[in-house]
Amino acid sequence: MTIPDEVDIIICGGGSSGCVPAGRLANLDHNLQVLLIEAGEDNLNNPWANVFQMYTRASASDYDDFQAKGWTTKELIPLMKKHETYQRACNNRDLHGFDGPIKVSFGNYTYPIMQDFLRAAESQGIPVTDDLQDLKTGYGLQDIASPSRRSDAAHAYVHSTRAKYTNLHLKCNTKVDKIIIEDGRAVGVATVPTKPLDGRNPPRKIFRARKQIIVSSGTLSSPLILQRSGIGEPEKLRKAGIKPLVNLPGVGRNFQDHYLTFSVYRAKPDVESFDDFVRGDPEVQKKVFEEWNLKGTGPLATNGIDAGVKIRPTPEELEEMKRWPTPEFTSGWESYFKNKPDKPVMHYSIISG
Ligand SMILES: Cc1cc2nc3c(=O)[nH]c(=O)nc-3n(C[C@H](O)[C@H](O)[C@H](O)COP(=O)(O)OP(=O)(O)OC[C@H]3O[C@@H](n4cnc5c(N)ncnc54)[C@H](O)[C@@H]3O)c2cc1C
Repeated sequence: MTIPDEVDIIICGGGSSGCVPAGRLANLDHNLQVLLIEAGEDNLNNPWANVFQMYTRASASDYDDFQAKGWTTKELIPLMKKHETYQRACNNRDLHGFDGPIKVSFGNYTYPIMQDFLRAAESQGIPVTDDLQDLKTGYGLQDIASPSRRSDAAHAYVHSTRAKYTNLHLKCNTKVDKIIIEDGRAVGVATVPTKPLDGRNPPRKIFRARKQIIVSSGTLSSPLILQRSGIGEPEKLRKAGIKPLVNLPGVGRNFQDHYLTFSVYRAKPDVESFDDFVRGDPEVQKKVFEEWNLKGTGPLATNGIDAGVKIRPTPEELEEMKRWPTPEFTSGWESYFKNKPDKPVMHYSIISG
């Protein structure tokens, strides 16, 4: 179907956050023309998309730390509930949703090493919990096996809507270069192909929006789109040769990363893992693919991350930290974590391969 040059709403970026308003708005009113522009490829028929995704929620105090209207945990809980169908046994019915588009369930396959991990963690005094994503547990242990078929935002909100209605348009392999602002109002976007044939002079196409433009291009790209459009800290924009249109110094600031490290352990040869599959052993791959294709079970039905822990330091560890030559650990603990017991200092998991 041809994509119109002018629509009601344009959404820039079809990741987790862009797909939700795209689907919700297109379903809210089927006369509303919604255009979702995504830099990447269409994931409609890609079984490998989201294979490593796990169900995670931040701690209540993390959301509250934003200190932004509409983003407190109290305000977000109804939205968290609205988007999920929690299919696991549940003791926290006030915190989970049971009829939303995203399905949350256990996988049907786990590597046996998960049991060793659970026993080892419990022997260290870490309590077993049945819901590590209850927004308040900062110290606990749970089996977290992901489901065999992933439920992702694009399928749950976009592809399912487009299968029924014609008012949600999808333009993939296309990057939003900038928002077009006329008389102080965002009226459209300028786009370029993600992989232009002529890299120096890519063809630009303009899409206009009658009502609204949503920028949801992720942590790195969203501020870049705004800055290329003249929205940001004026001095910084001028230095990059961009005419400032909106003075918004916070754009591109306060980036926070979360660090990931891997500790590798050797397992005995008879311990089951997905190493042989990943190495490309043809016999193992054939067996694993056949089981997946026939029954949707077996090693391909998990990402191998079958159990996880959220931890905070014990009183003994805190005492030990005081003797370290790096005072930053103690000062970081005192200023950020100490009085917020829902905040884990670290999350770690087993990966069976
Ligand atoms: C390695 C890794 C593993 C993770 N694992 C998990 C996990 O297991 N569970 C979990 O809950 N979270 C996980 N996260 C975090 C999660 O992926 C993010 O929080 C989430 O994707 C953020 O959603 P978003 O829509 O803001 O951004 P994104 O999902 O990044 O979406 C942004 C979209 O915009 C597109 N885009 C970018 N620039 C442009 C442009 N100029 N024009 C048009 N489109 C553009 C991108 O292609 C992308 O599709 C993980 C993150 C990483 C990096």
